[in-house]
Amino acid sequence: MQNFEFYNPTRIVFGPNKIAELNRLVPQNAKVLILFGGASAEKNGTLAEVRTALSQHEVQEFGGIEPNPTYETLMKAVELIRSEKLDFLLAVGGGSVIDGTKFIAAAVNFVGEPWDILTTHGAVVKHAIPFGTVLTLPATGSEMNEGAVITRQATLTKLAFMSEHVFPQFSILDPTKTYTLPKRQVANGVVDAYVHIMEQYLTYPVDGRVQDRFAESLLLTLIEIGPKVLAQPEDYDLRANLMWVATLALNGLIGAGVPQDWATHMIGHELTAAYDIDHARTLAIVLPSMLSIRRTEKRDKLLQYAERVWQITSGSDDERIDQAIAKTRAFFESLEVPTRLSAYTLGQDAVHHVVKQLESNGMVKLGEKKNVTLDVSQRVLEASL
Ligand code: NAP
Ligand code: FE
Repeated sequence: MQNFEFYNPTRIVFGPNKIAELNRLVPQNAKVLILFGGASAEKNGTLAEVRTALSQHEVQEFGGIEPNPTYETLMKAVELIRSEKLDFLLAVGGGSVIDGTKFIAAAVNFVGEPWDILTTHGAVVKHAIPFGTVLTLPATGSEMNEGAVITRQATLTKLAFMSEHVFPQFSILDPTKTYTLPKRQVANGVVDAYVHIMEQYLTYPVDGRVQDRFAESLLLTLIEIGPKVLAQPEDYDLRANLMWVATLALNGLIGAGVPQDWATHMIGHELTAAYDIDHARTLAIVLPSMLSIRRTEKRDKLLQYAERVWQITSGSDDERIDQAIAKTRAFFESLEVPTRLSAYTLGQDAVHHVVKQLESNGMVKLGEKKNVTLDVSQRVLEASL
């Protein structure tokens, strides 16, 4: 096992009717800004519950944070917070609203050009204003981690940053708040969580037995509940399991002490920036080809994955690996998430465009061994056509 430091200060408050706890969780004298996305949180009553819970607090609101939140929109919130001297943020929504809130929290008191927070991947962040979240979409794990992904509309650049200053203070996870999600978003959530686990599990073995078995239990749970959460949107236990799996998939626990890949995510971000494909859908396109192209360096773990997750025990090594990758692709497709660029009418031109974008964003040595060069990324994308 590799050396590691594990730190996660986010309080999770889980269950129905827990939004009422905001009254206790948000400091009494705080000047609060509630941040949300489009109409969903208003329509399904989540915002109404939040307003009731904070009726004794001084509160303002900022809506309109878009999926794949943009720097341009977020800077408007930064201006509002500066001019109104607000000092506590509450994100109500999915990964986009939470990521956007993290950027805002770090940008408010930042001296200089806040876009540098992204270009330095968070290195320049020295503090952030405190915030909590009310999660409405299980997928990203943003509710319990220190990462965020922001898009600059003007240049179509999507970059991630990490900073221990942007862990949420608390996150309220009420599975009943996910009942109104469109099927497409639920399927996206299952796939995003699945790929988060794979980025931390499917690397080279370092005898991290606990991490491997945690990861496998999360993957098996997603495979078991994936089709059911789509078919039975108001089954509380299914939604509760999905919500907790998605959080545990990316809260630092399974990735501590093991190598981490993330090449699939970095290539996926370019596909979203260029063609506006949902985050999870880009991952479903990239992951199967990524595993296939890098099968030599990932051989041992691919065989472990085939056996322990998909119960594949017969055939040659390469046959078992092929079957495991095919099962992975079929799982995504069973959720109606396409796994080919052609499903978005994208061809070879798109491959060249994405490779150029990777180059201009410095994404030239990706993966746990930093050997996913532009050439490898190009082959992965070509295998995804
Ligand atoms: P999202 O972009 O936050 O939301 C997608 C859509 O779902 C929005 O249109 C939203 O509508 C709707 N929605 C949310 N909750 C709903 C509900 N309860 N009922 C009905 N509709 C609802 O999706 P996401 O997948 O959670 O976040 C994706 C973003 O997170 C991407 O930018 C991705 O790069 C990033 N990401 C971050 C991390 C991380 O660790 N921080 C990891 C992976 C991905 P409204 O706008 O109307 O609310
Ligand atoms: Fe993701």
